[in-house]
Amino acid sequence: MIDVLVIGSGGAGLTAALKAKELGSKVLVVSKTYPTHSQTCQAQGGINAVLKEDQQDSVENYINDTYKASHKLGKIENIKFFCEKSKETITWLDSIGVPFSRDENANIAQRKFGGTKAKRTCYSSDYTGLKILHTLYDQSIKNSIDFLNEHILLELLVKDSKVNGAIFLNIENSKIIQIEAKSIILATGGYSGVYHQYTTNSYSSTGDGIAAAYRAGAKLSNMEFIQFHPTSLEGKNILISESARGEGGYLVDSKEQRFIDELRPRDEVARAIYKKQHQGDKIYLDLRHLGLEKIEAVMPQERKLVYDFMKLKMEKDLIPVSPSAHYTMGGILTTIDAKTTLENLYACGECAQSGIHGANRLGGNSLLEIVTFGKIAGENAAKNSKNKETVEVEKIRVQEIKKEIEEILKKECKTSFYSTKNELGKLFFNNVGLFREKKKMQKALDYLENKKEEIENLGVADKSKIHNKNLIELLEFKNIYLIAQLIVKSALKREESRGAHYRVDFENEKEAFDKISISIKKEENIEILFEEIV
Ligand SMILES: Cc1cc2nc3c(=O)[nH]c(=O)nc-3n(C[C@H](O)[C@H](O)[C@H](O)COP(=O)(O)OP(=O)(O)OC[C@H]3O[C@@H](n4cnc5c(N)ncnc54)[C@H](O)[C@@H]3O)c2cc1C
Repeated sequence: MIDVLVIGSGGAGLTAALKAKELGSKVLVVSKTYPTHSQTCQAQGGINAVLKEDQQDSVENYINDTYKASHKLGKIENIKFFCEKSKETITWLDSIGVPFSRDENANIAQRKFGGTKAKRTCYSSDYTGLKILHTLYDQSIKNSIDFLNEHILLELLVKDSKVNGAIFLNIENSKIIQIEAKSIILATGGYSGVYHQYTTNSYSSTGDGIAAAYRAGAKLSNMEFIQFHPTSLEGKNILISESARGEGGYLVDSKEQRFIDELRPRDEVARAIYKKQHQGDKIYLDLRHLGLEKIEAVMPQERKLVYDFMKLKMEKDLIPVSPSAHYTMGGILTTIDAKTTLENLYACGECAQSGIHGANRLGGNSLLEIVTFGKIAGENAAKNSKNKETVEVEKIRVQEIKKEIEEILKKECKTSFYSTKNELGKLFFNNVGLFREKKKMQKALDYLENKKEEIENLGVADKSKIHNKNLIELLEFKNIYLIAQLIVKSALKREESRGAHYRVDFENEKEAFDKISISIKKEENIEILFEEIV
């Protein structure tokens, strides 16, 4: 029997798997993509840490910056732990072979990111996530960790409020399998995919693990908080990392005038850009003064992306940029031990609300979070499985799911969900995006409610069982549909502005909302509550 089943093979999943394996567990990593296709590979700018305490920076400053960015919704105990461990976390990544860029003294180089005055972000050129992921994957192979790729999680197996395994669909042949395990770790990434065609994320960020945890009865938290990155390539949604501004890049309007301190927190910069765009202006990233040599040294990938997608040269041209949904602060509520509210179930990485980011995330804090809490999840899941011989599961559920998939394949395909997915993405960007108000959000909720029956009865045009992409995308879309409801219902209930959640009808932060939001399944309904941060 599997001791620790890790679902998701991005940076969080692989770190958790390595830790559990180190502690002697039998580990299996299951994911819908190959590890090298996970979202983590796209991270460009870097990973935060205080490597040396001096006049420039200190752990205390780091704690203060992270807590300030969270707008009082971060949990101070968790933030302290996270920041105090940052040097150890980077040292570990360095020791297993992550090729960090170095300064003139051969120390790990650090650059400036937003929300802080210090140079705190370690990087590997502008391929930081890719290099981290490849190193973790190399280590996983070296440590003989077992992988089952291209298997999509459908549901968690729950008996008497205990999670004892999960049900997957094998993408290659559409077969349904059940995997039983003593501990389960969800590391399935975020849900920016709700903002389809308005997000820097890959198509796979559909919040599947969060949706499965919700259906299983776990508490979710802060689902209303979505981070919009200020600078994606206009019309392409390809990210130009904060490092471009950290290295000295400017934001200018069509008169080539700067209009904001580029290193203000992301929510403020993104809103300033969006506002100007809505006044008819066009916004550009200006890197020309940095010169080709510096650009090539610190952002070669981004320079290439700009040329490939826009036929523009960073050293010569102004780069048109626009905000896009980038990171989701909400997720499965976890403790400092990476425990969820369900027994045997752990969560880490972007799918978890671990008390670090609150209402806003500092750039560079996500890569640190996936490694810090990946380790904790692996360790505690391994410990949890130690004294168990076996687990009991409900055998009937897998049969029901097989039937449900057969029925989807049999159904006549009357409407294409692809157009609904585009419509929903646009509606959410405009109505539940950077500037929110009750009327517009209610319209988005009404849209979702009107679509309920259509979505429940969706079929697929492709009836094949071999690599049926159409079927997989429908299953993902159903998760997007659920997550969209969780976002808008939480956003409607939070009648204030805080960090990334900005309401034009409630423009101030309110003490009464110094609380995390909780989403929980009550029979077939979504219940939204607010809980004190304890
Ligand atoms: C363009 C871009 C640049 C970024 N740059 C930075 C940066 O410089 N610094 C920083 O700190 N953060 C950055 N971020 C954020 C950061 O990269 C992510 O938050 C982080 O990598 C998420 O890691 P993860 O392991 O939690 O999830 P992911 O890397 O998203 O991995 C999720 C895994 O879960 C699997 N999965 C999902 N659903 C299922 C399912 N149903 N069944 C089975 N498997 C499933 C996927 O296949 C994948 O293996 C960036 C994000 C983007 C989009």
